[in-house]
Amino acid sequence: MSVLHIQTPLIESRALSALLGRPVWLKLENTQPSGSFKLRGIGHACQWHVRQGATGFVSSSGGNAGLAVAYVGRKLGVPVTVVVPETATERAKELIRMEEASVIVHGAAWHQAHSYAQTMANASTPLIHPFDDPLLWEGHASLVDEVAHAGLRPDLLVCSVGGGGLLQGMLTGLDRQGWQDTVVMAVETEGAASFGAALQAGHPVTLPAMKTIANSLASARVCDAVVQSALSHIVRSALVSDAQALSACQRFAYDHRILVEPACGAALAALYETPQAVGDARTVLVVVCGGVGVVTG
Ligand SMILES: *Cc1c(COP(=O)(O)O)cnc(C)c1O
Repeated sequence: MSVLHIQTPLIESRALSALLGRPVWLKLENTQPSGSFKLRGIGHACQWHVRQGATGFVSSSGGNAGLAVAYVGRKLGVPVTVVVPETATERAKELIRMEEASVIVHGAAWHQAHSYAQTMANASTPLIHPFDDPLLWEGHASLVDEVAHAGLRPDLLVCSVGGGGLLQGMLTGLDRQGWQDTVVMAVETEGAASFGAALQAGHPVTLPAMKTIANSLASARVCDAVVQSALSHIVRSALVSDAQALSACQRFAYDHRILVEPACGAALAALYETPQAVGDARTVLVVVCGGVGVVTG
């Protein structure tokens, strides 16, 4: 079976390079057919399960993860059920149905949808977790492989953090390349700072509430593995406001004619708002994680 994600463009940002006074490269995950990097890990995980005999998939995400599972199901010819919380937008549900998956609305928030999805899953119809699964991290790591293959070695890698699957995938990829000295800037919005809180505490903590416009980052707790990995890598936590994330989306659209959702705007905002935070890094790589949440409602 060939992989389901595409090799995304890696382009230099003139605007950000000029602002930061050094080359800033963009890995354009918004160009994945499902609209985000999620396809890398989820494609990898689903193909693995199909080889083990899986005949269907369940997802618990009303966002980019659910859409990626739905996309993969259609490509592999395997039925998919996506349980989404009541907060999922009409547009998200429409996009998932367009991938021929069934949508079930259950629960006020992700956690309830996830618990319900767990009851639907079984050995032949596994639940594909949106961020806490080593198969996902292995798949996400292919992003770093592509960067290495293109001959680029960043001193600083910037990405956003929700449940920590993307970050854990990037750290997995850095390990694969032997790039332990690459500094990673892990960006969250202030109302969803579960990774920042875990770094401070030295262990994962569950935040009482999420308050952010960046839905894809609204995970009250990050996976254990990423907190563990942060101990053996150079990972810095950075926080931006919702307003900064939104304004970064606008600025990025103006600079590059590409529209991304606020979760991705957060990573961009860390550079637009605090260019001095790159320190002495000579080459910067930003994971433009993408996201279909560019329209609301
Ligand atoms: C899922 C997602 C994130 C966060 O990824 P995690 O693996 O949950 O940390 C960030 N941006 C976008 C667009 C996403 O879909």
